[in-house]
Amino acid sequence: MALINCTECNKEISDKADSCPNCGISFNRKENKVKISKKTKIIAIILSIIIILGGIGSFIGYNIYTENRRIAEEHLRAEEEQRLEEE
Ligand SMILES: [Zn+2]
Repeated sequence: MALINCTECNKEISDKADSCPNCGISFNRKENKVKISKKTKIIAIILSIIIILGGIGSFIGYNIYTENRRIAEEHLRAEEEQRLEEE
């Protein structure tokens, strides 16, 4: 349990208090609970990084695959052309 300063009267009160015992202002705790916790945010960020990296990785992998196939096909074609010229 920590002490915080009341937003209204600036007196030290418990951070668990629903209202200030000094000036009686009530704090909307429900609103805070709805907010996404730091942990959840970090997990969401890590997950999105993994998804993005996975997407980039498969994109690069696909490009390398198609590029290699193109080079191989060109090589085969060049060999065939050379063979036809020799005949
Ligand atoms: Zn107060």
